[in-house]
Amino acid sequence: MMHLPESCQVAVVGSGIAGLTMARELALSGVRSCVVLEAGPVGDLRHKNSLPGDIGLRLWHTAAADPYFARSWSSNRPPHFHRSSGIRRRVGGRSLYWHGVCLPIENDVLRAGAWPPSVVDALGSVSGSGWYADTARRLEDWLGEPLDASRGPLEAAVLKWLLAQGYFARTVPQAARFDRATGIRVPYSPVEHWLREEPGGLPPVHARCEVLEMTPTASGRVALTLDSGGSHRVLVAERVCLAAGTLPTTVLAGRLMMRVAGTDECRLEGLNDHIVQGFTASVPRRVLALPRLPGDALCYVPRTDPTESNLFVDVTETSDPDRVLLTAWTMGEQVGGDSAVRVPRAPGAPAVVDVRFSARDHCVIGHQTRQLGELAERLAGKPLPTGEWHFAAGSPEYLPARTRARAHRGDGDGIAFFPYVYPLGSVDHESGTLPLGSSVADDYGALRCLPAVRVAGPAAFPRSGAANPSLTTMALATGQARATSSTL
Ligand SMILES: Cc1cc2nc3c(=O)[nH]c(=O)nc-3n(C[C@H](O)[C@H](O)[C@H](O)COP(=O)(O)OP(=O)(O)OC[C@H]3O[C@@H](n4cnc5c(N)ncnc54)[C@H](O)[C@@H]3O)c2cc1C
Repeated sequence: MMHLPESCQVAVVGSGIAGLTMARELALSGVRSCVVLEAGPVGDLRHKNSLPGDIGLRLWHTAAADPYFARSWSSNRPPHFHRSSGIRRRVGGRSLYWHGVCLPIENDVLRAGAWPPSVVDALGSVSGSGWYADTARRLEDWLGEPLDASRGPLEAAVLKWLLAQGYFARTVPQAARFDRATGIRVPYSPVEHWLREEPGGLPPVHARCEVLEMTPTASGRVALTLDSGGSHRVLVAERVCLAAGTLPTTVLAGRLMMRVAGTDECRLEGLNDHIVQGFTASVPRRVLALPRLPGDALCYVPRTDPTESNLFVDVTETSDPDRVLLTAWTMGEQVGGDSAVRVPRAPGAPAVVDVRFSARDHCVIGHQTRQLGELAERLAGKPLPTGEWHFAAGSPEYLPARTRARAHRGDGDGIAFFPYVYPLGSVDHESGTLPLGSSVADDYGALRCLPAVRVAGPAAFPRSGAANPSLTTMALATGQARATSSTL
């Protein structure tokens, strides 16, 4: 087992996209005394997409199938923040599951007032300069081509069809390498840098090392109580970067707030996830005017008013050469999330997610339903039966819908649509409980109650927009690491 020191300059809690991006940037910024503390074990470090057949898909959707799945909270409104809502407790965290979609938060959302202006300026833009551009450049170096490079003739045909239908569609930027031998796209994970042992050295990752509690010391440092392989240890750090996933980060920060304030209650507001619903269908190639060449496509139609949602269209081959599997989904923002996390004082006691839908959420759900209905009508030439989606009830579920669509053998140009819904918390985009520039954290995520502790990852997003979170998570972690190293 790797030797865990008694003190260090920076302790990074969590080894997912946020934690490992921060740890690497701290090393690149010259911080030599840094450790990464990870509650889970070092498992198989391959991304789930590298696993054969449908195993990866099932690991994601069927929590019980994944030995690394963990949920340390309960929900007042299952299936939301229940069912497959959880983290993956292992070195690499959810970076070994994500799909690599890299969209920045929309400019109008960043500039609407919730995000601190200094951070918005520092984020910059993907095509310009700043943290977004630095992050995109690194991902493109890894990928060997632009993030939004075309996936080939099949995608070009899908884009053409969407444009002809009046959609302002584009290729989805994705940090995922195509493996010609298997025909599979495998997304980037920062774990790869540790496997390659980059020159200059990266901070050690201590697996099976769970942070239980944080306590301020008299000198303004932080004493971390750890469960390290079954025995309790204390590590004193000058700075702590909390990157344990939104819910565990919320709980650790909430307990620290209670300790500092001497209270027994902590309720952190603003929890949100994306509102996602869609359909899957077996579609004749000729409906989309697709070439007879095998391929795949992942396109999106950027968010429009009033849907507040990005519309995605994914096309893959099926065993029937005359048909493709088309999956469409719409992903919308929960603005200001009315949901909250109640953090218990006692270590080990589960947090409670108090799920609430706002009137605005219901509007987004209604607009999304119409948006999906319109797309289905354009594909099939007839309207979808109404009442297919029941977002609040979290039904129908995705996996059964996909299985039914794959098994469907339509005749001629017939298309059957199989709708599905992702309950809140199961999209894995949960965020917003410890927002930058708020009463709980400063512009760069330092907690007001103890500035030596900085919050990273989606928990720190003041608003999420419709974009998938990880490009922003990596960009922000890069900037936060630079800010941390400059104060040491
Ligand atoms: C199937 C799937 C597809 C996705 N696709 C995309 C996509 O295409 N684009 C996108 O932007 N996003 C996507 N996401 C979301 C994205 O993966 C997550 O938002 C992101 O990985 C979260 O990263 P994180 O570092 O904040 O948290 P995590 O990856 O959850 O990492 C947190 C780590 O902290 C550890 N930890 C927790 N508590 C403690 C503790 N007390 N002490 C020590 N360690 C602790 C955990 O074990 C975990 O390893 C997807 C997610 C999934 C599951």
